[in-house]
Amino acid sequence: MDSVNRVFASARRRFFMEMWTIMSLIVQKFGGTSVADAKLIFNVANIITRAYQEGNDVVVVVSAQGNMTDELIEKANEINTSGSKREMDVLMASGEQISIALLAMAIEKLGFPVTSLLGWQAGVMTGSNYGSAMITRIDPGRIKKELDKKNIVIVAGFQGLSQYYDVTTLGRGGSDTSAVGIAVALSADLCQIYTDVEGVYTADPRFIKNAKKLESISYDEMLELATLGAKVLNNRSVEIAKKHKVELEVLSSFVEVPGTIVKEDANMEKMLISGVAKDNNVAKIAITNIPDAQGWAFRIFSKLSARDINIDTILQSAEHDGKRDIFFTVNEDKLADAMEALEKYCESVEGVGLSYDKNVSKISIVGAGMQTHAGVAAKMFEALFTANIDIQMIATSEIKVSVIVSQDSADEAVQTVHDAFFSAMD
Ligand code: ASP
Ligand code: MG
Repeated sequence: MDSVNRVFASARRRFFMEMWTIMSLIVQKFGGTSVADAKLIFNVANIITRAYQEGNDVVVVVSAQGNMTDELIEKANEINTSGSKREMDVLMASGEQISIALLAMAIEKLGFPVTSLLGWQAGVMTGSNYGSAMITRIDPGRIKKELDKKNIVIVAGFQGLSQYYDVTTLGRGGSDTSAVGIAVALSADLCQIYTDVEGVYTADPRFIKNAKKLESISYDEMLELATLGAKVLNNRSVEIAKKHKVELEVLSSFVEVPGTIVKEDANMEKMLISGVAKDNNVAKIAITNIPDAQGWAFRIFSKLSARDINIDTILQSAEHDGKRDIFFTVNEDKLADAMEALEKYCESVEGVGLSYDKNVSKISIVGAGMQTHAGVAAKMFEALFTANIDIQMIATSEIKVSVIVSQDSADEAVQTVHDAFFSAMD
């Protein structure tokens, strides 16, 4: 009797395992470089149809081809450099409309059932902040209907529909966000982000010797790296993945090797840090000789926040002759705006100096390991000191240490710091 039960149990387990493989729902996202021309579109179509043939339900989110979105922006500028954001979104969303149709046609040609859907058809609803709209809800009814009909579903990334039935876009690089959002709405078993690199690296492999691909990385680390300028994933997509605990796999559409898994607990490799990032889009502002500094930080920074300018690293000097200096960094593209906000104010006070420096970069190390290991920052500083690189400012968070260095020494700084942490590894 017992053995009969055991046979039953194992048959049942096999049945459920098979069911599970058969019923897996996979969301695959392909970036612009992965669908840049006809040959690449067929390459992607092969990846998709393989997953479909293995018995999975497959929903694909795709970006505009190659540099299409940049080209559309250039086209707009030929007509009107200050066209309304609404019309810019109507224009920019068209890039993804082209790629979903072409990809669907490639899949038809391979002999598989497929439907393409625009963002609104796929139920992607957003706020009406054109150009950087947030997803408010996704109603996946239509996608599910198509999956029930055994269709492969190709969805236009980067776009949605506002409550006023206007087309919106989610901000540059927003197709990642579309993909993760749709994976959440469908409770997908897996969300694969196909791109032109093989995964997430300890540093940019194009520039840094011995950069190593990570097997896995935690949401928090990925979020820091994405925010710090690692271009592999859009940071909003990582936020959504973290919130809803969707595992992501970042992998290459060109080379068939395992990618990097982004998940909750990932420090399997017991590394002190997961990566070194560089951001050149940084400018330093100095306000000097501030008399009676009390309240200044508040006054300065509220001026900037009123213009939606984020302040990053901050340094306030000790008092000298009853005066103080404040240094801080902003995104370089916000520099002109920030200077405008500060000029009038600083001019109104005798002797206060205001200057900026664009020739700076932010170098950061990121790693959950630093929560439990002392000396991580010291190791970074030692490496920079040994290489004779001057640290202008320092900022830290729980899992990150950032320094501001001159932009001319930035590449050397990344290599030096990377060597210090990773040279001992295989
Ligand atoms: N095509 C859009 C862009 O270039 C969205 C994306 O690629 O994710 O920003
Ligand atoms: Mg700079």
